Amino acid sequence: MHATVFVNGRISDAASAAIPVFDHGFLYGEGVYETLRTYGREPFLFTEHMERLRRSAGLIALDVPFTDADLRAHVAATMAAHGGTGEAYIRILLTRGVGDLTYDPAACPTPSLVIIVKPFPAPPARDFADGVGVALVDIRRNHPQALNPRIKSNNLLNNALAMQAALRKGASEALMLNQDGQLSECSQANFFLVLDGELVTPPLDAGLLPGITRAFVLALAADAGVRAREAACTVADLDRATEAFLTGTTREITPVVTVDGRPIGTGRPGPITQKLLEEFRARVRVLTA
Ligand code: PMP
Repeated sequence: MHATVFVNGRISDAASAAIPVFDHGFLYGEGVYETLRTYGREPFLFTEHMERLRRSAGLIALDVPFTDADLRAHVAATMAAHGGTGEAYIRILLTRGVGDLTYDPAACPTPSLVIIVKPFPAPPARDFADGVGVALVDIRRNHPQALNPRIKSNNLLNNALAMQAALRKGASEALMLNQDGQLSECSQANFFLVLDGELVTPPLDAGLLPGITRAFVLALAADAGVRAREAACTVADLDRATEAFLTGTTREITPVVTVDGRPIGTGRPGPITQKLLEEFRARVRVLTA
């Protein structure tokens, strides 16, 4: 794995990058993170990602002792050390830091900052052309009053277990229900349906991560003349839907053509999905020009 890693100011290759085992990020999964990618070697929607990082940190009472400019400079330095000319995958992690074995945050005065840069692994073109299959899994999305999905935390067992279930079913993503049996989101992506010609995605209070791409796509839809709304969705809506797609930083707008092997609509990427993907690509093309 060719990756370059920043750990608290020290930049090295992946093999030499280390975090102490007493870091509460390792011990308790106490930390928050963001995954970004570049277009034209520039981190896409950097400000939005930093806003979400700060919101996530706030929800676990973790200070972010860095300005956006500091973080941007650290990312730039890590990218420069990494070299290359292609697009980059960037993961920024902020953990509680090193401290004794207690949940008391006072034990950890200094958070740890890690930035991972590696070549961006572009999804296969066929995912966009032909769509992907998802599996409806038994694992429910975390109850917001137990571990709020709005917190993009390093504590990812809920997501990992859902994805394991999907992989066992031969699907490329897991679609999770919330505690009330409504659709919430995927293990690493938000979920959209087309119902009666209208774009519909579960609302934030269904218990899901406020995806940066989700918000970008909702704004894009308004500009592209596609009616869109946030509304609670049920499993029955999967049978009524004429199209579906998932959104995420690394997967843009990926058509979903089957759920548990059952086709959505015609079982092919639909016109609204294709229109939004084209519009999305047109916007990022401006950035790479
Ligand atoms: N939901 C979850 C659980 C995720 O991990 C991700 C990926 N960060 C997303 C949704 C998509 O969010 P974004 O568009 O900000 O990448």
